[in-house]
Amino acid sequence: MADQPIPLRRYFAANTVALAPSAVAIAALYGAGFLAGRPALIAMVGIAVVTAVLVQRYLASLARFARFVGELSDEREPVMPRLSFAPATEELATAVAMLSIGWRRQRASIDNLAASAQAIVDGLPDPLIAVDRQRRVVRINQAAVALLGPVGAERDLSTAMRHPQLLSAVDALLETAPDGNFIATDQSAVEFVLAGPPELDVIAHLRRLPRAAADGSLALIVLHDTTAQRRAERMRADFVANASHELKTPIAGLAGFIETLRGPARDDVAARDRFLGIMAEQADRMRRLVDDLLMLSRIEQHEHARPDREIDLENVLRGVLDLLQLKASSRGVAIEFAVAAGLARAVGDHDELTIVFQNLIDNALKYAKPATVVRVTAEPAEPGRVAVAVSDEGDGIPAAHLPRLTERFYRVDNARSRQLGGTGLGLAIVKHVVNRHRGRLDIQSTPGKGSTFTVTLPAVGWLGGNVTPQGVTPS
Ligand code: ADP
Repeated sequence: MADQPIPLRRYFAANTVALAPSAVAIAALYGAGFLAGRPALIAMVGIAVVTAVLVQRYLASLARFARFVGELSDEREPVMPRLSFAPATEELATAVAMLSIGWRRQRASIDNLAASAQAIVDGLPDPLIAVDRQRRVVRINQAAVALLGPVGAERDLSTAMRHPQLLSAVDALLETAPDGNFIATDQSAVEFVLAGPPELDVIAHLRRLPRAAADGSLALIVLHDTTAQRRAERMRADFVANASHELKTPIAGLAGFIETLRGPARDDVAARDRFLGIMAEQADRMRRLVDDLLMLSRIEQHEHARPDREIDLENVLRGVLDLLQLKASSRGVAIEFAVAAGLARAVGDHDELTIVFQNLIDNALKYAKPATVVRVTAEPAEPGRVAVAVSDEGDGIPAAHLPRLTERFYRVDNARSRQLGGTGLGLAIVKHVVNRHRGRLDIQSTPGKGSTFTVTLPAVGWLGGNVTPQGVTPS
């Protein structure tokens, strides 16, 4: 780059300072008569010319040095200029260049540290926000951006989160006494609901750092989503309440009948026989309920462990159909059973799958209209899977109920389910077993026409084949 012209004022000022001692000396010699006027003038002009050249070179070197020092703070390393006529400046420039190399190295490692710190903060799965003493957002990680959207740096925390409980907890954490010491302890937690959608239950853990960090961060806010935990707690509480409620009714019934048999109906043989019949039914209902509850809890306990046995689905289904044949006949319902030729074996647990198909076929028989057909088919599904479908020609299920059908104790019609001996747990058991098998349960239903429940399971091998009727059971 070309040298900048030296400002005239500075050039003249420097020349005046450099010439002043010589001018004073020549003037004194001339005044004292040691020097004639003409030689004095010639000497003065000579000294002025040499001084002007030297001053110009020196000032140019200094200007180049100043520019070099200025350029050291740029991103690119500048080229060291030639600084002839200014030897001291050259040494200074070399020292400054060394200083700048060390400074650049330090700055690179500081940049690295800052990038690693941000990478660590971004890697945290929970949203994190750091605020300074004035409650302004200094740092925010990716999880927080995903939850709250982008938050402008240096903005007050309230622009990102308008929750009064959180803001007052942060204020309390940052509040200082007149002596400058913090008033509150260095950590606290506050729970609140984050407006949706979806609405989230959140707990914010607040922590004040012992002293402000280099970027000004003084308090850290970590948000923890407790929605799933809360939902599980609510479900557990609902489940216990529902289970107790289901048991309470038959127990109250039994207690009432025992009371009656001990008192007014003590000698009434006909009433006693009738009551004992009802009591047996109630006891049976409690037994079924307890059996289903135990089964559900057992499956839940090992739901994460996938079964690995090879299962002949036709065998499982035939066993279930044999068990339910009597019920089908008594309700006047025919069962049509078809298995695809050469159907692949499934990966699963024989006893658990028996319970699954028992529940599904039992439901189909329960909710089917009399003199209709329940169809059970087993066929290959998508590659590597086999599907068992149970269809009935019953009343069907309105679409609004379908998503909740596999919840414990969820029934479309409470009275009807109880009257048919249902516990409200059958489909919950089916869902858990199917989950454990890494399978899928699909429910299709048309109100007034009927329903189809399809269980898809992993197959041991793919053999293919068409569905051919294996047997039709007349009603
Ligand atoms: P339940 O013991 O009451 O049958 P389930 O968990 O097996 O309990 O089923 C839950 C609810 O789903 C039932 O109460 C019933 O309302 C509905 N449902 C299940 N299967 C059928 C079906 N095949 N047809 C119509 N409704 C059904």
